[in-house]
Amino acid sequence: MTLEKEGLGLLQEALARLEEGFDSLPKFDRSINIDALRPVLLEVADRMQDNYPYPHPLYVGQMLKPPTEIARLAYMLSLWINPNNHALDGGRASSAMEKEAVAEIAKMFGWGTHLGHLTSGGTMANLEGLWVAGNLQPNKKVVGSNQAHYAHARICGMLRIPFQSVPCDSRARMDVTALKKMLQEGDIGTVIVTLGTTATGSVDPLPEILKLQAEYGFRLHADTAYGGYFILADNLDAEARKAYDCLKKVDSIVVDPHKHGLQPYGCGCIIFKDPTVGKIYKHDSPFTYFSSEKLHLGEISFECSRPGSSAVALWATQRLLPLIPGGEFAGYLSKSRKAALTFFDKLQNDSRFVVAFPPELDIVIWVVKSQSASESSQLAQEIFKAAEKENLHLALANLPKKLFLQTGEGINWDQESITCLRSCLMKPEHLDWIDSIWQKLDLVTTQVLSMAVARAS
Ligand SMILES: *Cc1c(COP(=O)(O)O)cnc(C)c1O
Repeated sequence: MTLEKEGLGLLQEALARLEEGFDSLPKFDRSINIDALRPVLLEVADRMQDNYPYPHPLYVGQMLKPPTEIARLAYMLSLWINPNNHALDGGRASSAMEKEAVAEIAKMFGWGTHLGHLTSGGTMANLEGLWVAGNLQPNKKVVGSNQAHYAHARICGMLRIPFQSVPCDSRARMDVTALKKMLQEGDIGTVIVTLGTTATGSVDPLPEILKLQAEYGFRLHADTAYGGYFILADNLDAEARKAYDCLKKVDSIVVDPHKHGLQPYGCGCIIFKDPTVGKIYKHDSPFTYFSSEKLHLGEISFECSRPGSSAVALWATQRLLPLIPGGEFAGYLSKSRKAALTFFDKLQNDSRFVVAFPPELDIVIWVVKSQSASESSQLAQEIFKAAEKENLHLALANLPKKLFLQTGEGINWDQESITCLRSCLMKPEHLDWIDSIWQKLDLVTTQVLSMAVARAS
């Protein structure tokens, strides 16, 4: 809480500077009754204690990462204006900052020209990407791997576009042979590639999928909500690197600044390679776009009112931590990946666990070695709960047995899926905490396994 406790002086300084811009207005100030706020705010503090400690390095569970200091300060600062990035009428400066910040994201992926904007999150961003795809490929199917985010099937349902899922290989990546078969049979208009699947951080083999595109002609939508920023990491394995290197060849990309981009929630992003897709969005609002002939972001976005403060926070973050290879921000991604590789190594060398495949990004999955898939799943849940008591916060994921067939020799597959333990090592601090994380995992695993032995005898 260093920022909140020590950084607020800086916020006051910046607020005074912001206020100077409005000096010509007659004096107006709302009086507030701090005493009335106190009990409510303290009640909020009490209520918020009922959370996992997301900012702490011992939280290695779900995809949660604290927003960076500059993002929080810029967000709070701009709340005094509370701009709305629907139209320039509601957020002139913050709309300009959104366009600049999104252009920097497009540039990170290798696009000089683009069309795009921020959204409330990856789901809305994917909705827009698939809506545009459906408009350009009418009456054709959308396909994505069975490890693609579950929202794609639901989005296609909303859009009344037929969706089909493509099987995965043993590393949870889209099986290209299976995709090829489907392309031969079907009327496929769009393929969703995921670079960084939500469960395992797997990277679909984009180079091979691009070869199929040359043969069969389809639109490519890349869901990199989680993994997009890893394009900046300098320690990807060769296959993942190749996939990221040709990411610029897809038609649309989704990335979530509120996942790896150090932003508070409410910040996703959709970008299109071809700016002319803007015409698909065309609509006439009778009441908004009057103050300027320039592009109002509401003219190219599904959501109308949108938080200008999100754009301001993102702009400020990218100003401080530019999205460039070799930069400080890029270093955070490389560190997360290194943490995952270090953790994976420890798991792989411990006979109590079975790993499936080395992490492609910073997400690690593993199972407990056991006689059967059901027993292993049970033990994973027990370790998950026991770890929480030791302040180590892991996650669980149900994954297909296919991922463990090679490494999990001797497991009796009495069920089709297995409950894995899962860790997202998203914070730069995680690398320094791997030993503490491991000690706790080691301790609770010993506890849980000895209890299991006692139960069995
Ligand atoms: C998180 C995620 C989404 C959904 O994004 P939200 O921001 O949670 O709406 C979509 N796709 C992938 C690959 C994700 O990891």
